[in-house]
Amino acid sequence: MWNKAIETMRRPDMEALQLERLKATVGRVYNNVPFYRKRLDDAGVTPESIKSLKDLQRIPFTVKNDLRDHYPFGLFAVPMKDIVRIHASSGTTGKPTTVGYTRADLEMWSECVARLVMAAGATGDDVAQIAFGYGLFTGAFGLHAGLEKVGAAIIPMSSGNTEKQIMIMQDYKSTVLVSTPSYALYMAEVMAEMGVKQSDIALKYGLFGAEGSTEEMRAQLESRWGIIATENYGMSELVGPGVSGECIHKTGMHINEDCFIPEIINPETGEVLEYGEKGELVITTILKEGIPLLRYRTKDITRLIPEVCPCGRTSIRMEKIQGRSDDMLIIRGVNVFPSQVESVLLGMPHISPHYQLEVSKNGFVDALKVIVELEDSSLLESFSQLEALEKSIRHKLQVVLGLDARVQLTEPKTIERSMGKAKRVIDLR
Ligand code: ADP
Ligand code: ZN
Repeated sequence: MWNKAIETMRRPDMEALQLERLKATVGRVYNNVPFYRKRLDDAGVTPESIKSLKDLQRIPFTVKNDLRDHYPFGLFAVPMKDIVRIHASSGTTGKPTTVGYTRADLEMWSECVARLVMAAGATGDDVAQIAFGYGLFTGAFGLHAGLEKVGAAIIPMSSGNTEKQIMIMQDYKSTVLVSTPSYALYMAEVMAEMGVKQSDIALKYGLFGAEGSTEEMRAQLESRWGIIATENYGMSELVGPGVSGECIHKTGMHINEDCFIPEIINPETGEVLEYGEKGELVITTILKEGIPLLRYRTKDITRLIPEVCPCGRTSIRMEKIQGRSDDMLIIRGVNVFPSQVESVLLGMPHISPHYQLEVSKNGFVDALKVIVELEDSSLLESFSQLEALEKSIRHKLQVVLGLDARVQLTEPKTIERSMGKAKRVIDLR
């Protein structure tokens, strides 16, 4: 473990640490961020009135639009001279939001990532190929700093140029790959086309994040690469990657609770839910200086797991993200997450893990079409086999989604490959 004292801290000690840091954070934003002073005043919350962790629930939520309304720097809690780095969200769901880091924030960030990369199997002996895009996006810089901290040799490849990625991976004997799961899948495909085999590379671990993936996708990544695949989670508003990450037991992502307090709420009512209940993840940052956020609504749907993990870490874990509430499609009144479709498709024979969901309007009625690539185009010659496969996918989708969807099987390599976050949904409505 990178930081055994924190990672195995007893619950009462962790809660005491959290309370102390929460009080300090509320005081800081109250005094330095006009937006928060007003919000807290309106809610009747003063920094002195925070006496226990339960008092967190008296604080109003912060949402992405609050950041957008104060774009770019309006929620910063320190003067610009103390900011040493600026990043932004990927802009998946609209105008990007901007975040700033103090020197202490960069230290905290790399500390959090160092813990998760070690939990995922990486050590100072590893050669780590980072295939996240370097830039305003936090993914590459975050993993870079954490892996550097544990002493790994970093190859800052950035994303794209996939054949070169494979060549470097072979020549430099990379043992760790950092990327989105969808890009890792595409890289595996290119590797096979280049005639490079698993025995030609030295890869041992895949550290995947920045987008969701199902257990079925993990299984594909592990077998195609011959690695242990773990995932980690974060978002630019909160720090970037480093909020949480899986250990090699893959029992959910360990949250860095000395820096982030997690809650799960009912996204409709805002009511705080019990451990184990599914809802929207809300995070309060308690150590960040540049742009601390109180009860930030992540829009990511998951649940919290409090039981101690076999690895010995005592932190609360979060389950794989089911999807963003933004990604949830409502089709003829039925809620559909792309991840549900992924888990159906990836369990089927003869199809590749590349798919898209197309939603359209047929008159007044929503229609869902699932487009998925065949593993091998020879199947296209057998109408009866094709029809049978289509039928069985349709049936499975019906059972899992409770919805009739059209299935379109296409030639291999017709769906656009992604170098970063995959685009799974085309909404034509
Ligand atoms: P954007 O919100 O514009 O995509 P970010 O690059 O900050 O900007 O991405 C944060 C989001 O990425 C999270 O809110 C979440 O939806 C997604 N994400 C990150 N890691 C994971 C993960 N391990 N599983 C599922 N989703 C993830
Ligand atoms: Zn663990």
